Amino acid sequence: MHGLRDVLEQAAKNGVAIGHFNVADLVSLKAVFGAAQELRVPVLVGVSQGERDFIGVRQIAVLVRSLREEFDFPIFLNADHTHSLTKAIEAAKAGFDSIVFDLSALSFEENVRQTKEAVGALKKINSAILVEGEIGDIGTGSEIHDKAPNLSKGLTTPVQAKQFVESTGIDILAPAVGNMHGMLKSMVQGETKKHLDIARIAQIKSAARVPLTLHGGSGTDDEDLRKAIAAGINIVHINTELRVAWRHGLEEGLTKKPDEVVPYKILPFVVESVKQVTLSRLRLFNSGR
Ligand SMILES: [Zn+2]
Repeated sequence: MHGLRDVLEQAAKNGVAIGHFNVADLVSLKAVFGAAQELRVPVLVGVSQGERDFIGVRQIAVLVRSLREEFDFPIFLNADHTHSLTKAIEAAKAGFDSIVFDLSALSFEENVRQTKEAVGALKKINSAILVEGEIGDIGTGSEIHDKAPNLSKGLTTPVQAKQFVESTGIDILAPAVGNMHGMLKSMVQGETKKHLDIARIAQIKSAARVPLTLHGGSGTDDEDLRKAIAAGINIVHINTELRVAWRHGLEEGLTKKPDEVVPYKILPFVVESVKQVTLSRLRLFNSGR
């Protein structure tokens, strides 16, 4: 079984991106794994600090590892948006494959200093672990927002990207390139789409020369996602779209089975709903050049 680093390299060679999907329970994990298994493509499962607090750090690590081993399948686990070294170390010790160390809210200098320190500490625990750093402003919260935040001033520049990668030793960079966490109501309804700065992605890629992650991929225009992957994005995060599908699936299950109390007769609706969204995104990310 290859590690996440090999899988990322292979994806880059093939001109495809790895789908990263956040989960908060066994239901969404089943859906994400089921979709990846059906398409036979590698997949990255993400858990934010909030999602980890709910499902359990060691518990999700064991669940994902059990799928990888039992099915000999390239499913990996990422500690999404980790804001302290203590939380990052906890995930590394539990066996996570990668960690998003996110101090993008701090000044550039402070972000560099603490991220560099984190890279050193985490690689001591597991030399194969991949550390992702983040610069620029992509908003917070994979939720439904009433209005769009103004993120235009927080876009990442190629010069910053190169400097950040070289001075921290991170393996993966998460830039701000027009992406945004969460979705607007109009995006959930399919009336509007997010658009990406494709030229900026290409410039950052040639300056930084490391794998790039696109956060906040939910609600992004499909053609923009295709172009972003061709320009150098290697991992695409989807969370809010899955959360919307999770809720719709639950509502459908409860409506169709109004008197049912058996969880495993209601929750398959949620699995199916989340799986369909995951399938659609994985097909797009793996369609290649
Ligand atoms: Zn994110």
